[in-house]
Amino acid sequence: METTGKFISLVKDLFINKELISLHEPIFIGNERKYLLDAIDSTFVSSVGQYVNRFEEMIARISGSKYAVATVNGTAALHTALLVSGVKRGDIVISQALTFVATCNAISYIGASNVFVDVDIETLGMSPDSLLKWLEKNTIFKTNPDTGLKSSYYKNTNQRISAIVPMHTFGHSCRIDKISDIASEYHIPLIEDAAESIGSYFKGKHTGSFGKVGVFSFNGNKTVTSGGGGAIVTDDEQIAKLAKHLTTQAKVPHQWDFFHDSIGYNYRMPNLNAALACAQLEQLDLYVKNKRELADIYLDFFRQTEDIKFVVEPMHNESNYWLCSIRLKDKTERDKFLKETNENSVMTRPAWTLMSELPMFRNSVHDGLPSSIEIAQTLVNIPSGVRL
Ligand SMILES: *Cc1c(COP(=O)(O)O)cnc(C)c1O
Repeated sequence: METTGKFISLVKDLFINKELISLHEPIFIGNERKYLLDAIDSTFVSSVGQYVNRFEEMIARISGSKYAVATVNGTAALHTALLVSGVKRGDIVISQALTFVATCNAISYIGASNVFVDVDIETLGMSPDSLLKWLEKNTIFKTNPDTGLKSSYYKNTNQRISAIVPMHTFGHSCRIDKISDIASEYHIPLIEDAAESIGSYFKGKHTGSFGKVGVFSFNGNKTVTSGGGGAIVTDDEQIAKLAKHLTTQAKVPHQWDFFHDSIGYNYRMPNLNAALACAQLEQLDLYVKNKRELADIYLDFFRQTEDIKFVVEPMHNESNYWLCSIRLKDKTERDKFLKETNENSVMTRPAWTLMSELPMFRNSVHDGLPSSIEIAQTLVNIPSGVRL
């Protein structure tokens, strides 16, 4: 394919002085060294320290949320988000099959079952239409006689539907306003897996701030990194307090006593990682600007091709373009493209294998997932890192 050759040349021009052009790699051009050394000198390298507090303040401010709680990674943040939202063993959680496995693993840690609804072709994220259709067909309402509160239950099995977890794929926001309306209508808490979308906005509002709880990841391959790390954001003070409590071994604060009032987790982000994260977050606007410029270059390039389409940020989005992606005609064309680029030291990757095709989620209920299947077969992620 002639286009592929031209694409390889373009990428090599864009990412000069690189043997292998990776999909996304971290860069450290700010205060990273300074803050890390400062954390070491302070002796506060573990779960207590000024950088953890500063990181939480920064995340709350950036995401437009009242509270942020730092965690060891995004998966732990998701697990905690589900716990504090009241998801229990035996419940159902509605998510999408086109996601990174961590979303569904976290749901499984609780002992809840995954249900997968389809994504939108344009957003790559949960489709509000598919969600509503599934709920209309499968839900019955029950009212708790003690509290008078309504809940949704899955008709077939009588399981409570206790959360909806959409994911903002590759940094593009799904139609989260519609999903939020549906979640309210059905009395189901909304948890946003915004792991990939720090710095992304939908209708001017930061992703992760639409639901009851939002989750970010700061893994090494994300837009900004703490080495490993995550965060939970919420406007609900009780939820924020509970999240902090559960992630610190559920220890009741006291000057010397060790008393733990429930089963907790060692999920708190260490100060060393927070130091790195603070320096990285200072660069967030710069990185996002740089990544959006790259997306523009790709868009221009692929506009001239007939066989490949660049995936543009959906309507109402201001995307961080965490991973740029393209869509090919079919799986055969996609595989040819993957082979030629990777053989020429330009790293490209297909979308994840759909969760519904992994052994542990193969028996999960889903709605047929036509768009998810089409995307999984035709999408390729292309080099998307920040260019110096
Ligand atoms: C990266 C990611 C996570 C998990 O983050 P970790 O920090 O690696 O645990 C969760 N969900 C999605 C969609 C992700 O991309």
